[in-house]
Amino acid sequence: MAEIIIAGGGHGGIAAAAKLSKNGFNTTVYERNEKNKMGYDWTDIFDRRALISAGIGMPSEDKFTVKGDVTFYGPSGKTKFVQHSPKNQPQIKMERSDIYDLLISHAESCGVKFEYNCNINSPIIKDDRVVGIKTDKGDFFGDLIIDACGCDSPLRKNLPDCFGIQKEMKPFEKFNIYRAFYNNETAENPQEGFKLTLLPQGKSGIGWVCSEKDYTDVLIGRFEPFTIEEADQAVEYFRTLNSNIGTDILRGGSFASIPVRQPLAKMVADGYAAIGDSAFMTIPLIGSGIANALYASNILADTVLSDISKSFTAQTLWNYQKTYFKKIAPMSAPLACLKNVLAKMSADKLDTIFDKDIIEFQEHIPFNDEKIYKLTVKLSEILIRIKNAVSDKDFSKEVLKSVKNMAKLVSLINSVPSEYSEDEVLVWAQKYNRIFD
Ligand SMILES: Cc1cc2nc3c(=O)[nH]c(=O)nc-3n(C[C@H](O)[C@H](O)[C@H](O)COP(=O)(O)OP(=O)(O)OC[C@H]3O[C@@H](n4cnc5c(N)ncnc54)[C@H](O)[C@@H]3O)c2cc1C
Repeated sequence: MAEIIIAGGGHGGIAAAAKLSKNGFNTTVYERNEKNKMGYDWTDIFDRRALISAGIGMPSEDKFTVKGDVTFYGPSGKTKFVQHSPKNQPQIKMERSDIYDLLISHAESCGVKFEYNCNINSPIIKDDRVVGIKTDKGDFFGDLIIDACGCDSPLRKNLPDCFGIQKEMKPFEKFNIYRAFYNNETAENPQEGFKLTLLPQGKSGIGWVCSEKDYTDVLIGRFEPFTIEEADQAVEYFRTLNSNIGTDILRGGSFASIPVRQPLAKMVADGYAAIGDSAFMTIPLIGSGIANALYASNILADTVLSDISKSFTAQTLWNYQKTYFKKIAPMSAPLACLKNVLAKMSADKLDTIFDKDIIEFQEHIPFNDEKIYKLTVKLSEILIRIKNAVSDKDFSKEVLKSVKNMAKLVSLINSVPSEYSEDEVLVWAQKYNRIFD
């Protein structure tokens, strides 16, 4: 029976392992943390349909709430717009620990084995194929290694150059996050539950304040790494605007990172497939990655199941990447173009955009061709309106370049090679990467 190693307990890796195990594969997840210490001590918002698509099913009703409205503020904090939660909102909010409980219990019931407290150091390569993982507990070998180690995966970073897989993220592709739940200082119920400020205090990044009944959730995100002192200063700034934020940290109070970029240009090699954050599957503007990792798990498992040769080469795994780029990447990659413009904008330019009320944020709804087309048109329109609102020649040039890049990107995604040929795929990946240089 073929042995499949899931390196790291990422969401997509566990979900893929469950489907593969159910279909007769020997699957083992190697995870550095203890079982009850996986994920983070905070909540997440994601599209519930991804759970259904991955065959996991919904949690009980007491385990989630439905996402409400979000109020976006410009850097000055003076102008805002509200993203209203649609009727039948598919996005739900869950504790990360409950998401993991759901995923792991489903995987265990499908026969997946878990090896906890197992730190992975690097891949084992033989004859240009990934054949195993080097860990603190020794070497483990498999017929296929699924990399679910997250954005700083030690597997992806240590692959041979000849695989053509990008190892490191570039500036503005990774978001550094500080997040903590503070006690509620006052009993008053704030009118806006979820407030998100862009470039607060002129810093390149975001800050959110989400008021809950028993705590206030504060998140500070920046492209540049920052210290705990800087995080405290940023929280203090939000405290001056939100009297609800107390000074006691009830939960969290730690740093983490999220990829906010286009998906990896090449995510498969002989014996290797990356999934979730290790393949940069998050939505670039907002950093949500759980749903896409779960959608990808289904695609990857189906690709593996249809490989009757059980050779798991780049060639037989290519259908995974191809399907991901046809079905999901078109809804996320173009957003990387918009993010690149917003990320490099000055606070006063962004305030102008807010004052002129020209940005609208779309809900992320995958698997719908018409929506994909509309999203690209909408994003181009937003970029043109941004350009027209700000009178700055250099900036206009940058924006027009992004609009062109977005059109190029969509056409490139549509022309992802239908069969794997190393030369053709590497040329395609080079063109794709060049769009974001
Ligand atoms: C502050 C914050 C808020 C977020 N909010 C949301 C949200 O609301 N909605 C949403 O959809 N997404 C959110 N995300 C993003 C989300 O966490 C990821 O996109 C999602 O978890 C998919 O990533 P993953 O499971 O592939 O990787 P990860 O979540 O990074 O999981 C990787 C796993 O591999 C393990 N691992 C890593 N290195 C090793 C190693 N060397 N050896 C062994 N094991 C290893 C880790 O311990 C971890 O269990 C947020 C992220 C952060 C940081």
